[in-house]
Amino acid sequence: MIPIARPQMGDEEKERVWDAMASGSLAQGPRVREFEEAFAAYIGVEHAVATSSGTTALHLALLGHGIGPGDEVITVSFTFIASANSILYTGARPVLVDISERDYCIDPDLIEAAITPRTRAIMPVSLYGQPADMEAIAEIADRHGLAVVEDACQAHGAAIGDRRSGSWGAGTFSFYPTKNMTTGEGGMLTTDDGELAGRVRLLREHGMQVRYHHDIVGYNFRMTDIGASIGLAQLPKLERNNERRRAIAARYDADLRGVITPSPRPGVTHVYHQYTIRVNQRDAFADALRERGVGTGIYYPIPVHRQKPFEALGYGDVSLPVTDALTREVLSIPVHPTLSDDEVAAVVAAVNETANELGPIETTVAGA
Ligand SMILES: *Cc1c(COP(=O)(O)O)cnc(C)c1O
Repeated sequence: MIPIARPQMGDEEKERVWDAMASGSLAQGPRVREFEEAFAAYIGVEHAVATSSGTTALHLALLGHGIGPGDEVITVSFTFIASANSILYTGARPVLVDISERDYCIDPDLIEAAITPRTRAIMPVSLYGQPADMEAIAEIADRHGLAVVEDACQAHGAAIGDRRSGSWGAGTFSFYPTKNMTTGEGGMLTTDDGELAGRVRLLREHGMQVRYHHDIVGYNFRMTDIGASIGLAQLPKLERNNERRRAIAARYDADLRGVITPSPRPGVTHVYHQYTIRVNQRDAFADALRERGVGTGIYYPIPVHRQKPFEALGYGDVSLPVTDALTREVLSIPVHPTLSDDEVAAVVAAVNETANELGPIETTVAGA
């Protein structure tokens, strides 16, 4: 079976983790600092604050902006649950907007209609490794005095022109093992806003700058030096790995038939956290690929507004036609950098045979 993800751990990771263990610095220490500096430089921002996960980075980004009960944050339903949950954690209300069929990210044309006097922030999700339309979103946010928190948890190294995801407003990253780089568990907030970074640092560590002097009520959302050691070994390999992902994607773009392949917006660097196609009879398609030895993933089988806690909050009736249609059609196929050329050829053959069997996709987006 060709798996949908295959995390890579090499000798650099082992050596760095061993050094951290031998040093006795296990929790947040000098390696976390070093990783923050290296990651900030890579993204092209002034500040990076390491956290225990992508979820806690999102949560802290919102708290750092002072977002809380009575506030609204605009985001999407077509995402991992953490985007919307992080808004709920603060007591604010997620306002779910539909996505664009072009990039599967928030549709900028729908944002202004969702803005109310309570809106405090826009949280676009740069899904599958493609930056959301950050320029249009930042312009709308500026015009309405809103914060931008980019959920870049799938977009390490993605860019629009030469500007990387994570450099508009605040960006948040996840280092979960299946992401384009990992620390085991871990996350990062990136920003040029020094005051925001300072508040997030305080919130991350129980509101403590001077040991056992707590200025505010904070959390323990720290990364460990063990995790940072893995991250320091992974970061220098990210560009090469992303290039390999892009080369595999180009091969799929050229050779797949009978399915809808991604079409990145012009000028965008897509880093293919997932290579997601749209297929006819999705569940049967996934079963047929498994029988042909190809693992797949569905991201995500249930959109946020149809998850139980959100239905209980009254989101069940929100009308998100593109989200609902794509939820039925999307299927991600292996695109990770450890795939051999033979494996890539096997994936192409399996997808094309299956599409031939089940028939080509006709989109189910209403009105499309
Ligand atoms: C992975 C992911 C997160 C959460 O990251 P964790 O590190 O698992 O907490 C948030 N949003 C998106 C879009 C993700 O893919």
